[in-house]
Amino acid sequence: MASYDVIIIGAGPGGYVCAIRCAQLGLKTAVVEGRATLGGTCLNVGCIPSKALLHASHMLHEAEHNFAAMGLKGKSPSVDWKQMLAYKDDVIGQNTKGIEFLFKKNKVDWLKGWGSIPEAGKVKVGDDVHEAKHIVIASGSVPASLPGVEVDEKIVVTSTGALELGKIPKSLVVIGAGVIGLEMGSVYARLGAEVTVVEYLDAITPGMDAEVQKTFQRILKKQGINFVMGAAVQSVETLKTKAKVHYKLRKDDSAHQLDADTVLLATGRKPYTDGLGLADLGVEITKRGQIATDDHWQTSVKGIYAIGDAIEGPMLAHKAEDEGMAVAEVLAGKHGHVNYGVIPGVIYTHPEVANVGATEESLKDQGRAYKVGKFSFMGNGRAKAVFAGDGFVKILADKETDRILGAHIIGPAAGDLIHEICVAMEFGASAQDLALTCHAHPTYSEAVREAALACGDGAIHA
Ligand code: FAD
Repeated sequence: MASYDVIIIGAGPGGYVCAIRCAQLGLKTAVVEGRATLGGTCLNVGCIPSKALLHASHMLHEAEHNFAAMGLKGKSPSVDWKQMLAYKDDVIGQNTKGIEFLFKKNKVDWLKGWGSIPEAGKVKVGDDVHEAKHIVIASGSVPASLPGVEVDEKIVVTSTGALELGKIPKSLVVIGAGVIGLEMGSVYARLGAEVTVVEYLDAITPGMDAEVQKTFQRILKKQGINFVMGAAVQSVETLKTKAKVHYKLRKDDSAHQLDADTVLLATGRKPYTDGLGLADLGVEITKRGQIATDDHWQTSVKGIYAIGDAIEGPMLAHKAEDEGMAVAEVLAGKHGHVNYGVIPGVIYTHPEVANVGATEESLKDQGRAYKVGKFSFMGNGRAKAVFAGDGFVKILADKETDRILGAHIIGPAAGDLIHEICVAMEFGASAQDLALTCHAHPTYSEAVREAALACGDGAIHA
């Protein structure tokens, strides 16, 4: 048994970042992780492996679609799926080992095994009970289930199974047009699968700016992805090597079915708190199964905190990381802070999609007067040079004060471009502040400046 200032349960981006910051602030820190490697969902079966497969499949797409136009001729590469998976696993390994290194460097102990909290101030791992002044739960999330759909991770898979399929399916049905479904759908569409996305709602990526939703869906359709919208999946029937997806169209209740080699269930994720003993401790849980916390991430039980996917808010790695750092500051007697109004969201398809802050729809609901500055990547020389003219930057600013309220980008490197606007928003900048900032030419970020100019007297290249 050992005694710590802080024990964190879970070594995902919330937990490991929290641990490193706690150690940097002089707290004796340990992390409990039951998985064989550190890094949580994000590094093992989430953000990182999905981006590796997105990168590899995008390279193939470039070779097949754009190389000849640039005078690069010859046979396009064929896919060695085993090698692609090995590349993905290598990327995972480099990243998870990196966290192990950082733990050693910062003197964070890794308590290997599954942890529970027998009482406030104590964490049990295997037969050992450790003492901690503070406990931080960062136990993350797991894929949500859907009635009538039984996952076997072979034919009917979650994102975890989709990252290591035995072979590239000829046909893939994705249930749910959210971020994960569209990213993985893109991967397999580029690798040659016939991909059909079945979505309950009438628009893809719920909650996003409606104009982006429409443009994004149009581009994905052009890339060969099929969509069945307004469809409620009733069940998935698995045969030996195939599946049948039964759904009903919401508009007329008519029943339909789709055959597929593989079905990806991507209807979201739910907090994971199994085995922690929260009910016995009296830790309050929200109606949606999240651990309830106060403004300082403390649960209803004193000394027990929670962060990341296990609590309320967007299920994003960087949101978990920010909370991890903030709670470490709180535990060290400092002032931890997360600005939930400026958390970017990114979809790593091609083109990328990124957003931060308010959507037009939410501003309309609030009755807030706003103006829109929009600029198409067709007017951006750099984007046109690399076949990436599809998409736009849209900045929303307060009509009176010109303060930036939100931004929505679909286009090349959108996931990086969005941060210029995040920083501007953190500093309370106006669209004019962005417009007056010199942007290097030729860069994609000129499109951000042009959209900011469009909030005022007008863009130059529109
Ligand atoms: P997790 O990363 O889920 O980590 C929790 C850890 O706690 C796990 O390792 C688990 O084993 C451990 N644990 C749980 N209970 C116990 C216990 N009792 N004892 C010991 N250990 C325990 N987010 C992005 O921001 N960008 C992306 O591009 C992105 N892509 C994604 C792609 C996919 C396919 C998926 C599935 C997710 C993606 N996400 C992405 C979401 C992101 O992975 C999560 O938001 C993030 O991992 C949450 O971090 P966390 O620290 O809260 O929990």
